[in-house]
Amino acid sequence: MRKGDGVTYEPADGGLPTEENWDTGAYLDFVPTYMAAVRDKFGYGFQLLHDVHHRLSPIEAARLGKSLEPYRMFWIEDPTPAEDQEAFRLIRQHTTTPLAVGEIFNSIWDCQHLITNRLIDYVRTSVSHAGGISHLRKIFALAELYGVRSGSHGAGDLSPVSFAAALHVDLSVQNFGMQEYMGHLSPSEDVFHTSWTFEDGLMHPGNTPGIGVDFDEQAAERFPYTPKYLPVNRLRDGSVHDW
Ligand SMILES: [Mg+2]
Repeated sequence: MRKGDGVTYEPADGGLPTEENWDTGAYLDFVPTYMAAVRDKFGYGFQLLHDVHHRLSPIEAARLGKSLEPYRMFWIEDPTPAEDQEAFRLIRQHTTTPLAVGEIFNSIWDCQHLITNRLIDYVRTSVSHAGGISHLRKIFALAELYGVRSGSHGAGDLSPVSFAAALHVDLSVQNFGMQEYMGHLSPSEDVFHTSWTFEDGLMHPGNTPGIGVDFDEQAAERFPYTPKYLPVNRLRDGSVHDW
């Protein structure tokens, strides 16, 4: 994948959100077989990360983590809703699979309990959502004291400006873990001219002064805002579940 190719594993569409089906039992049975097949075919010479999207209960997440231990995940992300932070203590009691959470957090106070109680391994706060460069550095400094590493959120709705800032934070902390990157749709390159690059799974900030991004306002006028929404999940009985 190159910058600009975009990735649609979190597809947003115009109009009403699309509906998808969800079955927790089928998911918990399927994921370990999927990871086993990947390791069987490609081996262990690369990292596997899996985003659970807050779809499990604490004990279900514990079962998932335990079942994935043979496949040595780099992390499982958002196994349960992030607001219920004691849930991570329960998950911890059952599995050594590393846990990542925090993409919805807005400040150091949102992750203080998880970090200081060593309930997670990666804190996923991002420069755009958690107070900018200075505040994010405070969060990562606190995390460093407790052996928690950075793993900033990097969905496609975070702009190329945001990624430039994120990269500079990543390079400045001792406990860097991983930077998520989903890419951007092609028109973004007409509007944002960045010195940072993405190649073979690695990002580089480039050598331009500052954070190295120019923003073309005239080009931006060609792309008026159109609302788009992520899908919703429905269980077999039609009720709504976290997507
Ligand atoms: Mg995520």
